[in-house]
Amino acid sequence: MKFGGASLANAPRIKNAARIIQRYSPKNKLVVVASAIGETTDQLVKIAELAKRGDLRRARNLLSRIQVSHLKIARLVAGRGDTRELVVILEQLNSELERTVEGIAHLRELTSRSRDYLLSFGERLSTPILATTVLAAGLKTRALTGAEAGIATDDNFGEAMPLIEISYHQVQQRVEPLWTRRVIPVVGGFIAATIDGSITTLGRGGSDYTATLLAAALGADEIWIWTDVDGLMTADPRIVKDAVVLPNISFGEALELSYFGAKMMHPRALQPAGQKKIPVRIKNSFRPSRNGTLVSANESHNGGKVVKAVSIIRDVGIVTVSGSGLMGAPGVAAKVFQTLGSSNVNVMMISQGSSEATISCVVANRDVDRAVRALQLALMGQGYVDRIAEEKDACIIAVVGSGMKGTPGVAARIFAAVAKRKVNVRMVAQGSSEYNVSFVVSHKDGPDAVRAIHEEFNLGR
Ligand code: ADP
Ligand code: ASP
Ligand code: MG
Repeated sequence: MKFGGASLANAPRIKNAARIIQRYSPKNKLVVVASAIGETTDQLVKIAELAKRGDLRRARNLLSRIQVSHLKIARLVAGRGDTRELVVILEQLNSELERTVEGIAHLRELTSRSRDYLLSFGERLSTPILATTVLAAGLKTRALTGAEAGIATDDNFGEAMPLIEISYHQVQQRVEPLWTRRVIPVVGGFIAATIDGSITTLGRGGSDYTATLLAAALGADEIWIWTDVDGLMTADPRIVKDAVVLPNISFGEALELSYFGAKMMHPRALQPAGQKKIPVRIKNSFRPSRNGTLVSANESHNGGKVVKAVSIIRDVGIVTVSGSGLMGAPGVAAKVFQTLGSSNVNVMMISQGSSEATISCVVANRDVDRAVRALQLALMGQGYVDRIAEEKDACIIAVVGSGMKGTPGVAARIFAAVAKRKVNVRMVAQGSSEYNVSFVVSHKDGPDAVRAIHEEFNLGR
């Protein structure tokens, strides 16, 4: 069971999480995964930026808010005998956190490694708090970091890749003895460590990934993701008012949705579950009796609807390589992707003009400058590329559904619906799985495009 930030946002919610754990613990062997409390990770990101600029005063200010709120929550959730011990743990973490921020501020240098170290405090603080709350509910628990639970990664800080074989082996060795003693492991999500012990993170939203990795390692029957909505919905409920919960969805569809939905679930989280065919339930911790969404290997027919859901990924940019020399020059596309890959730029979408005179790639906004520089160095001045252009602040709209496979006319309906709202489509690509058609629009047109699709395919109530 994984509890997201909103499900742990304050003392009553943390107690609610502990009640859910208590309810399911007698009949199941559980592993609990905790996210950071509420918006802590976002606040740590802000602190990192302030410290990097040397603004120690404002960084400290935000920091003390985090420290105070965690201590306050700790006192409210811990049982009488355990408050002291928990407060000592939190105070140690708090002073380590302070030293980290001071270090960054003095050097005015924030590496991806020090950033991960700083962000790790969200889960390092929340985990002992949740474990102590579960203890107060009368169960035996043990708080563990991701590394202590056995998850090892490479050193790609900020978006580290788990080393699957070692991690699975270590997780089994560390968790199973706890179960034998009827101890419930409460593991900090999102964070892990390299083999030599440097703290890494699995990318934003990574607690989902921690949960699925642990489940795959342990051969779990199910993975339950507790969040603040009733399940995976036909669209982001903050954009589409009449979005509805999807009761069933296949791994393939959910993968496309989460890859592009970004916010709902970590894009790589479904891989371990899908590989081992472990069903994932997404449930509302505020309304635990609701069924939620079941993600499984079954391809449900969705009542004959071709499109199942539509999602949006924001803060992306387009990098376009063009030149008359691109036409028929073999290997240029390969060179483009190789260059981006070796500069650690993740390409989210690709399209090539039929004239072959342009290749466009969608990448995260923050990677646009790096991508352009790398491509200029690698490709300019060799005769076939004349121009490398960039556009920032766009978003990808992904239309997902297994029924789209082999159904003609879906793309036509999608683009007609968007055109009716006078939204300009800048780039189009069909996902390789045929489960999705995605396109790029400007940042401001994103929500409108989502609503247009939702309406066109009658996805709502
Ligand atoms: P958690 O803290 O539990 O990990 P997240 O904030 O990461 O939760 O994700 C849940 C949020 O994702 C919801 O509150 C909802 O606003 C948003 N969201 C975006 N798209 C969807 C969707 N298609 N279905 C459900 N929720 C979505
Ligand atoms: N706390 C981390 C984040 O906000 C991981 C997570 O919540 O899944 O990104
Ligand atoms: Mg999340």
